[in-house]
Amino acid sequence: MLKLDSHPTGRHFLQIPGPSPVPDRILRAISLPTIDHRGPEFGALGLKILSGIQEIFKTTYPVIIYPASGTGAWEAALTNTLSPGDHIVMYETGHFASLWAKMATRLGLSTEFLSWTGTDAELPDAPSWRRGVQADLIEARLRRDSEHRIKAVCVVHNETSTGVTSDIPAVRQAIDNAAHPALLMVDSISGLACADYRHQEWGVDVTISGSQKGLMLPPGISFNAVSPRALEAMKSAKLPRAFWAWDEIIEMNKGGYWPYTPNTNLLYGLSEALEMILAEGLPQVFARHQRWAAGVRAAVTAWGLPIQCADPALYSPVLTGVITPVGVDADALRRLIHQRFDLSLGTGLGKVKGRMFRIGHLGDSNDLTLLATVAGVEMGLKLAGVKLAGSGIQAAMDYFSSHPAEVPKAAG
Ligand SMILES: *Cc1c(COP(=O)(O)O)cnc(C)c1O
Repeated sequence: MLKLDSHPTGRHFLQIPGPSPVPDRILRAISLPTIDHRGPEFGALGLKILSGIQEIFKTTYPVIIYPASGTGAWEAALTNTLSPGDHIVMYETGHFASLWAKMATRLGLSTEFLSWTGTDAELPDAPSWRRGVQADLIEARLRRDSEHRIKAVCVVHNETSTGVTSDIPAVRQAIDNAAHPALLMVDSISGLACADYRHQEWGVDVTISGSQKGLMLPPGISFNAVSPRALEAMKSAKLPRAFWAWDEIIEMNKGGYWPYTPNTNLLYGLSEALEMILAEGLPQVFARHQRWAAGVRAAVTAWGLPIQCADPALYSPVLTGVITPVGVDADALRRLIHQRFDLSLGTGLGKVKGRMFRIGHLGDSNDLTLLATVAGVEMGLKLAGVKLAGSGIQAAMDYFSSHPAEVPKAAG
């Protein structure tokens, strides 16, 4: 509980997989005075941001920026491209994929939810929540659709509820193998600016993202990166949309403006975040996240606890899901760790509530903040009476000291 009269010393450890810690440099940028969103200064800021964000998505096509959380950008992706009753195929990788599917159904789409049907000993009620998108299932489904009733395939790139990253080029290949015209829509809300992502090269029609994960901003901005095919689909799409409509925003964006009052101060922060990320270089940003993830996984493995992601090729660079032993309530453990060590960990969502917790290792972190996090978790596990196979903190220290980080490229 946040006690407004309390003043804890030191930094709170916000190790949930989004919102991620916001760097001081970004907080300072956000604190500047709000300016006229129709004035010349704003237009210059808008144009700078709109081109910088294209570099992050790796696209030359428009990126639409909304003053909304990621959920709003999910809705924008669907309503700009689809019509009532359209049939779409989504894939159950976890809680966020499930929420997006629920939204699609509420919007009046006919939603088919594909899922991995194997069994899993650790999470028998959620076997597909330990694995990535099976592109062959999507290909087989599209091949059966000879009348091309399926209008879109929607998948999550980095499933933040599980710590599994899916192979997006494989999904693109599956659609192409079936010679199917369905649009490909990808949620990379937590993947963007942490894990390699290439909107244009991978042939994605709409990528959805948000501000509070890899971009290191507070919540409140979200994105749709689009393709020429998505813009074409917009012309005949009949789902009601007004606030979310791409066409008016893209038109106003030509001058760096928006059709309504944009999120001025968060856009200052976005401008700062783009400078920081692009000066470091995306390859360096991705390598940094991979290395942190490996260090945290070394700790989990040393404890003898199962990593939720069952496929090592798909380990998330953003977060690690840790399955607690049967009988150990992961939420009680999280509460204990928060109370004792001022460290916030991600809760188990939906089908895996109480069975796992999530360690975020994204954005504005470093080796020592992650070691402190691992130490906090290790102390909490011991206090909760969990029998550990070995020391995770020692394993993480060994990993980080024997794998030096790449020296970042000097800033411009
Ligand atoms: C955080 C997240 C969302 C939800 O975004 P909000 O900003 O909370 O609306 C959706 N999908 C994924 C993969 C996420 O990580």
